[in-house]
Amino acid sequence: MEILKSNRDIKDKFELESLMAAHLIRLRGYGSLPYDCACNNTHKVNDKDIQCIASAKPIKALLRCPNNFYTMVRIEGFFKKKVISEYGYHAKLLDEA
Ligand SMILES: [Zn+2]
Repeated sequence: MEILKSNRDIKDKFELESLMAAHLIRLRGYGSLPYDCACNNTHKVNDKDIQCIASAKPIKALLRCPNNFYTMVRIEGFFKKKVISEYGYHAKLLDEA
């Protein structure tokens, strides 16, 4: 996973995505799939303390964990699903000018 280091990095990434509303991905259908978080822990996409902030195509979700890290995950597979963490960053970067 790529760890973004600045607000500029985040903007550059988001320019390449078509971010959409969080509810469009219907994460609940993916059960308790684990993902590697930018905070170095593993969380499950449907844990109560994991917030889905946005979605993107094809099947991506921007997840926020209780440690204030955001991670963009891509879900692949049909019968056997896997979650690939593409990039992440700490929430403090959002406050940078
Ligand atoms: Zn985390």
